[in-house]
Amino acid sequence: MSKPTRVYDLHCHSNQSDGILSPEALVSRAKLRGVTTLALTDHDTISGLPRARRQAELEGIELVNGIEFSCMWAGRGVHVVALAFDEKHDGIQKIIREQTSLRERRTVLIAEKMEKAGFNDALDRACAEADGPAIGRPHFAQAMVKAGFCSSVEQAFKRYLGTGKAGDIKQIWPEFGDVLPAISEASGIAVLAHPLKYKLTRTKLCKLLEDFVDYGGGALEVVSGEQRPEDTRDLAKIANTFALLASCGSDFHAPSMHWGELGKFSSLPESVQPVWTAWE
Ligand SMILES: [Zn+2]
Ligand SMILES: [Zn+2]
Repeated sequence: MSKPTRVYDLHCHSNQSDGILSPEALVSRAKLRGVTTLALTDHDTISGLPRARRQAELEGIELVNGIEFSCMWAGRGVHVVALAFDEKHDGIQKIIREQTSLRERRTVLIAEKMEKAGFNDALDRACAEADGPAIGRPHFAQAMVKAGFCSSVEQAFKRYLGTGKAGDIKQIWPEFGDVLPAISEASGIAVLAHPLKYKLTRTKLCKLLEDFVDYGGGALEVVSGEQRPEDTRDLAKIANTFALLASCGSDFHAPSMHWGELGKFSSLPESVQPVWTAWE
């Protein structure tokens, strides 16, 4: 097989959501790793895009607009990556604002619970730990460690923030049926992210994909970080069954995650139609 001339990574996170690297550092690392087309897909925010775009211009790589939306389908949380959309479009802006206000409401509730547990100035301290606009449980955990309230992030989760603990506040997300049309209206492509992570039965996954297609979804993440070759083949088949384009990405969050390194997961099976054919 000849060496591919283009290397696509269409799913990764910067410190504008729960990643470690700044948008600039992320783009530079992608370039070092041989990526030629990158989509920065932070959770529920596009705040990193202008910075990533400037850096991509400096580095000479292509940046595709991206975001990873959390949304609800049949009462469960699923992730939809939007690619190549018009970031100024009203519809997409509205969904992002809605996501932000839902997330902020949850952050305030977590802060209240942590105050009650004896951790003072919880909200301010958690905000100080976040580089981006999205503040979640990891930021509270880091703040608790910094203040000496907990000895480690693990302990903070075990005692206060983990499943079933005071800070485990259920997050409400916009509905699937509201998010997907907004992506299409903004001329973007909706990609169902990491389809195997939801641990759905085959029947449920097919139902999810039927709804996804009905609402205008356009692609399936056939390659998502490290996965078994048989899973890739299976997902390729599913993408073709539902006439979906195929996407690939590392879901990179941090340099320490060597199993999810940028640019490592860019080859799609030949049987599928790559998602980039939609904008190239
Ligand atoms: Zn995700
Ligand atoms: Zn992700």
